[in-house]
Amino acid sequence: MEEREERDQEGLGRKNRRDTVIVTAVFLVLVGAAFLGVKLFNPGYSREPYQRTMFVLDDYVTITAYGKDQARVEGAVEESFRELQRLQGIFDRYDPESEISRLNREAAQGPVAVSEDLWRVIITGVEVYRECEGAFDITVGPLVDLWDVLGRGARGDPPPGEEEIAAARELVGTDMLELDEALRTVRFLRPGMAIDVGGLAKGYALDRAAEVLRSRGVDTGYISMISTDLTLGEKPGAAGGPLWRIGILDPRGEDYLATLLLPGGTYVSTSGDYQRYFDYQGVRYHHIIDPRTGYPARGAISVTVVGGEEGARSDALSTAIFVLGYPEGLRWAESLGLGCLMVDPSGEVHCTEGMEAHLEEVKEAAGT
Ligand code: ADP
Ligand code: MG
Repeated sequence: MEEREERDQEGLGRKNRRDTVIVTAVFLVLVGAAFLGVKLFNPGYSREPYQRTMFVLDDYVTITAYGKDQARVEGAVEESFRELQRLQGIFDRYDPESEISRLNREAAQGPVAVSEDLWRVIITGVEVYRECEGAFDITVGPLVDLWDVLGRGARGDPPPGEEEIAAARELVGTDMLELDEALRTVRFLRPGMAIDVGGLAKGYALDRAAEVLRSRGVDTGYISMISTDLTLGEKPGAAGGPLWRIGILDPRGEDYLATLLLPGGTYVSTSGDYQRYFDYQGVRYHHIIDPRTGYPARGAISVTVVGGEEGARSDALSTAIFVLGYPEGLRWAESLGLGCLMVDPSGEVHCTEGMEAHLEEVKEAAGT
């Protein structure tokens, strides 16, 4: 009897200790909330971010920016968009007045001096070309034009014929670019060549836009160009902060395939077969061309890469890994220590170790 009472006492003691633990935990949560509240309502950040979307560089670009002084934040975002419009004037192949259009018209006749922006993009393109042995190739222009996926889709035209594809392939090859670093000139060794920087120009623009924001004192926010994004600083506020929650779309579904939690300064680039394509007699033809075959790449249906030091490189790598496909592209990403999520042609999802560290949630992809 006595013994039992003692045991009950002990039980009671344990329960009390447990209560204390719970109370402590609740207290910590409250203190945490109060702290976050201070961060949320105070100083340093506006509670609501300023956000603006504009169609530029052939996609919807959204800049979300936080700051204490709303007018200053708005001014910084406006100037960022002006910078993106300036870059569009350099990179847009559909504008005959753009710098790239002029380069493509003139570079077969002799060396053409290019702007620093275009030069940097071309150099990054050449570097990635060498690393992936030609899966990524900025001279893919003639094949992109021949495939003209959106035009063919709108007209209901069939894919190009084998002979046309073979002829266009003759005009593709970074090895046929002659670059002079000292003079910053570009020359085509074969007439009919054309540079297309669509695979990395948005990533480059991401860095230029971020630079403008930072130079105006805005270092917290998020720049989204749909397929290439960048987080800046710690996410303010209680909801998810200080990490940024980013969703990766399911290439065959309506919903997100995965959500990532990312620190500031992280690039996220996606290449997929589901945004620009046409279907012809039950076959999908999309906008990422394998320069080695001349046909849309078939080794993956979506690739997302996370990390890296530069936007242009991040953007180029997602395209390159897409072209290399499964499993080669995934292995390459792993060897680069890159975060990479790939949906293979059968719809299976694969992640490198670097990606797993950022994953909040990942689901199965919808049927292919
Ligand atoms: P998004 O256009 O959605 O940003 P990507 O970054 O993957 O997607 O770039 C695709 C674009 O890159 C194409 O529209 C085309 O302009 C260009 N491109 C297509 N195939 C290649 C390739 N093998 N290497 C380099 N650029 C390519
Ligand atoms: Mg890309």
